[in-house]
Amino acid sequence: MTSSISSIPIAPVLKEMADVFKAHGKRAFLVGGAVRDILLKKKAADWDLATDALCEEVCAMFRRVIRTGIKHGTVSVLYKGHTVEVTTFRTDGAYSDGRHPDSVRFATTIEEDLSRRDFTMNAVAAELPLGNIVDPFNGVGDIDRKLIRCVGKAEERFNEDGLRPLRALRFASVLNFKLDDAIIKAIPAALDITARVSPERIRDEFEKILLSPKPSTALQAMAQTGLMHLLFPCLADCIGVEQKGYHSFDVFTHSVLACDYAAHINAGKEVRLASLLHDVGKPASMSQDECGIRTFYNHEKISAKLAADLMTHLRFPNLVIDKVVHLIDQHMFHYEEVWNDAAVRRFIARVGEEHLKDLFDLRRADSFAMSAREPPADLLLPLQLRIEDVLSKSRALSVKDLAINGRDLMAAGIPTGKDMGLILSLLLETVFEDPALNTKEKLLEIGLKLRQKLSS
Ligand code: ATP
Ligand code: MG
Repeated sequence: MTSSISSIPIAPVLKEMADVFKAHGKRAFLVGGAVRDILLKKKAADWDLATDALCEEVCAMFRRVIRTGIKHGTVSVLYKGHTVEVTTFRTDGAYSDGRHPDSVRFATTIEEDLSRRDFTMNAVAAELPLGNIVDPFNGVGDIDRKLIRCVGKAEERFNEDGLRPLRALRFASVLNFKLDDAIIKAIPAALDITARVSPERIRDEFEKILLSPKPSTALQAMAQTGLMHLLFPCLADCIGVEQKGYHSFDVFTHSVLACDYAAHINAGKEVRLASLLHDVGKPASMSQDECGIRTFYNHEKISAKLAADLMTHLRFPNLVIDKVVHLIDQHMFHYEEVWNDAAVRRFIARVGEEHLKDLFDLRRADSFAMSAREPPADLLLPLQLRIEDVLSKSRALSVKDLAINGRDLMAAGIPTGKDMGLILSLLLETVFEDPALNTKEKLLEIGLKLRQKLSS
């Protein structure tokens, strides 16, 4: 790609849509991430169009239109299986609530519309249907150089919208682009503005950072600019917390390396979150012996609590929070060959069979981040083989897998209540020790004996 590029290829379906605009005497431009991604020879994630047509006019042009954000000049056009966001040319005022522009003024030219956009690489338009480039801020050149640069002065643009600093770092991680020095310099002064941004907007950018190929790019830049202290204070508290004896790195570096490893093995969002947050309880749980060796007993419990607080504040869905908290809570398991089958079953039951793979991915990430070296391929093999073996012998892992249930016990005269619950969990324990006992008759017999013991 060269900065003298004058047009980009346009998908046939967008050309068809352009004909509709043209038939109504209106212009349409592909804008934003789609143009950037096409210039980078990547598949565009979604299509955003900018037009001189007003929303009502767009609604009249197409059959299926959702009025997604009329106030901001945006509608979604459903066209041949695609959802295309169409926004009237506009210029934005400041975002004083950190959420939405206070005022939206519709503009008459694409150049004016492009000037409201955050970064030069996002302020390139391609006129439809031919794809001719409109590039008033040399975004094509910056894409070529892999450089993130603000449209206009960084400090002014960050004052208008405090999310932009985080977006800049997010794009650095996602695209593997460098950040213009002016961006790094302007972030600290805009922290007050960023503090007003809604947690949901922060979360959306944070998720994109996590899902990028190398989250540490953004996370390290967050630490360098003060964004980490503002947005994720529990992680910022880990900066400089050395842990000699076990690890080569301070807790913060260890955490971002673990997150990078989770990204490297293409783990899901939850494992990436757990990798990043698994040790945030270390500063609060730290103690030091006479030789200066530090220990962090029970840090996983504090980490789980701090991670839950952070994710709740960022409005992550409960399902995600629960999974991440569980993985963090369980991450300190320590398998030894002397474990008998019952101990392996207890481990599976505690972790949950469906979480084993993720917990092992977290452990590999944790192990990698101790020395930044690929952990041995067979790091968890002995435990994995034991699990396979134990599961092939019995799959009774919870009370509901027992050959007997509460109703059976009631029919045998054991009343519902505290004892019933206790008896069922003792029966499960019995089956962990000897799966052959998982028959109705045997468990009934043992259950009745347990009942006698409990009431004597
Ligand atoms: P992605 O691949 O993540 O969708 P994108 O560049 O399309 O990247 P969006 O958040 O979808 O990002 O925004 C679409 C376009 O809207 C951006 O390319 C940019 O031109 C503009 N934009 C989005 N958010 C802002 C903002 N906070 N300030 C200024 N312009 C913005
Ligand atoms: Mg987009």
